[in-house]
Amino acid sequence: MNTLPANPNATDLLQHIWGYPAFRGQQRAIIDHVLGGHDALVLMPTGGGKSLCFQIPALLREGLGIVVSPLIALMQDQVAALRELGIRTAFLNSTLDAQTAREVQQQARRGELDLLYMAPERLLSDSGQRLLDDCRIALFAIDEAHCVSQWGHDFRPEYGQLAMLRERWPQVPRVALTATADVPTRHEIVQRLLHDGTEFVSSFDRPNIRYRVVEKRDGRAQLLQFIRGEHTSDCGVVYCLSRNTVEEVAQMLAGHGITALPYHAGLPAEMRARHLRRFLDEDGIVMVATIAFGMGIDKPDVRFVAHLDMPKSVEGYFQETGRAGRDGLPAQAWMAYGLQDVVQQRRLIELSEADDAYKRLSTAKLDSMLALAEAADCRRVRLLGYFGEASMPCGNCDNCLNPPELIDATESAQKLLSTIYRCRQASNTSFAATHIIDVLRGKRSEKTERHGHHTLSTFGIGADTSETDWRLLLRQLVAQHLLEVDAAHFSVLQLTEASREVLRGQRRIHLKRREPGAKRKRRAMGGAAAAGGKSATARAARQALSSADTALFERLRAWRAATAKEHGVPAYVVFSDATLRAIAVARPTSLDALRGVSGVGDKKRDNFGPALLACIDDA
Ligand code: ADP
Ligand code: ZN
Repeated sequence: MNTLPANPNATDLLQHIWGYPAFRGQQRAIIDHVLGGHDALVLMPTGGGKSLCFQIPALLREGLGIVVSPLIALMQDQVAALRELGIRTAFLNSTLDAQTAREVQQQARRGELDLLYMAPERLLSDSGQRLLDDCRIALFAIDEAHCVSQWGHDFRPEYGQLAMLRERWPQVPRVALTATADVPTRHEIVQRLLHDGTEFVSSFDRPNIRYRVVEKRDGRAQLLQFIRGEHTSDCGVVYCLSRNTVEEVAQMLAGHGITALPYHAGLPAEMRARHLRRFLDEDGIVMVATIAFGMGIDKPDVRFVAHLDMPKSVEGYFQETGRAGRDGLPAQAWMAYGLQDVVQQRRLIELSEADDAYKRLSTAKLDSMLALAEAADCRRVRLLGYFGEASMPCGNCDNCLNPPELIDATESAQKLLSTIYRCRQASNTSFAATHIIDVLRGKRSEKTERHGHHTLSTFGIGADTSETDWRLLLRQLVAQHLLEVDAAHFSVLQLTEASREVLRGQRRIHLKRREPGAKRKRRAMGGAAAAGGKSATARAARQALSSADTALFERLRAWRAATAKEHGVPAYVVFSDATLRAIAVARPTSLDALRGVSGVGDKKRDNFGPALLACIDDA
C-alpha cells in the first residue's frame, strides 16, 4: 500500500513523490487545466507553489517536460532537488561542458528524462530546436515569465522569441509562471508569450510574513539590534541601495560576529558565485545586497528580509520581502525608513535621464511606496490593496500589533510651514530643517542672531514640541508633497502649492506617533497569528518548539548539513526546516509513521528514513 499505484493521478504523485497531503490554493485547478492540453498563465506569490503546477502535469503527460528558465546559476539546484525526489531531470545551459551536454541530449532522445531545464538561448538555438523535434514534448513551462516585459528590470530579449513555440508545436500546452503581480506585466506576458490562455491569479497574501517599518535614526545600529535581538543565527537578506553601503554594512555585521556576505553587480563574478553558493548551502548566512540579488532564489528558510533603504516601488518591496519565509514558517519583513529615503529617491528620479512620462510614472510609484511606509493602518491591507486585492486587518504587522497614536497636527503643521515662509521672507533665502526647528523651538544660535530670526513672530511658538516630533511631522509633510526638500541645495525646505491649503486650514494633518516607551505586544515569533496551510504538520511546524524538541531539531539539522555535503546539494534540498521541525515534534518511530510527515515522500523515506529514525532514537 506504500507504493505508487500503477496509473497514478495527480494526488498520488503529490503524496508519494513530494510527501505532501493536499494541494494548495489553485494548484489542482491549474494542473487539471494543463492536463487537458490548455495554455495557462500562473500568477502566484513567491513560495506559493508554482513549480508543482508544471512538474506534475509533465510527469502525467506522455513525453518530456521542457522548463525554460533564465536562472542559469540556480538550475543545478532545481535539478538536484528533483533528483532527490526520484524524478529524472537534467539541464542544458552554458555551464555544461560539451561532453555532458551531449549526454543530456542523448538521454532526452532516448526518452530517459521526465523534465529538462533549458536556458532560453539554448532552446532557440538550432541544436536546441533539432533536439525538441526529435523528442515527444509533454509541455513547455516558461518560468519567470515577466522577463518578457520590456519595462521590467529583468527584461530578457530572448524571451520575446519564445512566441514561436506555439507556431512550431501547436499541440503542446504552455504554462507561463511569474510572481510579478501588476496588471500591465500580466497583459504583456499573455500578449507576447501565450496569445490566449486562462489566467490563474492567486491571492498575493503571504500570511506568515510580518511587516514592520521603523523610524530610521541610526539605521545600521537598528539593523544590528534587530538581527541580534530577533534573528540570531537565522538566514536573512539585507537590502541596501548602493554598492558602497552593501560593503560597509556587511563588514559592520561581520565585525559583530554575524556571518554576513556582500553581493552586488560590481563584485567579481567569482566572488558573487561563491557568496551565492554559501548562502544557499549553509545555514544562518546573512546576505547584504543590492537588488541585483534575488530573482529566483528559492531558498525556503530565509527568516527575514531587511531594508536599510526604501525600495522605489511597492512592486519592488513586495518582491524583495517575498523572499522571506517561502517555507510558510514565521518570517519578518523589516524596514528602517526616514526623511532621507524620501529625499534620496525623489532626487534619483529627478536626475534620471528618462523622459517626463517615465518620471511621472516613477513619482507615482514612489508615492505609493511612501504611503505604505507612512501608513498608520494595516500594512497588509494596503499592500494587497495595491495589487487590487481586498482584505481585512491582518493582526501580523506592526500597525495591527501595536497601533500608533494618531494626533491632529494641523496646527503644528501650520506653525512649521509659516516659520519656513517667514524665514524666507526675512532673509530672501531658504533654510534647512535644523535651522527651522531652532526657530520654532526658540533656540538662539549664531545663525538665528545673524539673520535676526529671533525677532520673528514665530520664534519659539513650537517650544512645547520636541525636536524629534518636529522631524516626524516634517517627514510626513514631505512624503505628501506638502513641503519640498531641495536636495541639490543644502536640503533647504521649500513650500509648495499644496502647502497653502494647509496654511489656510483647508487640509487637516494627522501625525502618527508610536510611544517610544509603550509596551510592545510583540508575540513570540513562533506564536504568530499567521496561518498558511492548515494541516496538523504545518501547525506543528509553526508552534515554538519545547527545549527537548529544539535539541532534537538541532541534531536533525546537523545530520542534514552532513548529508547535504555528502550528496553535494544545498541543505534545504535534503529536507526543509518545516519538515525537520515536524519530525522533531512528532518523533515517528517507524518508517511507516514517517509517511505522515509533510515533505517526506517515498524516495526520501527510503533513502533517509533509517538515518532519521536513528537520530530520534538517540535523542
Ligand atoms: P514558487 O515557485 O511559487 O515560489 P515553490 O514551487 O518553490 O514556490 O514552492 C514553495 C515551497 O512550498 C516548496 O518548498 C514546495 O515544496 C512547497 N509546496 C508546494 N506545494 C505544496 C503543497 N501542496 N503542500 C505543501 N508544500 C507545498
Ligand atoms: Zn496588519
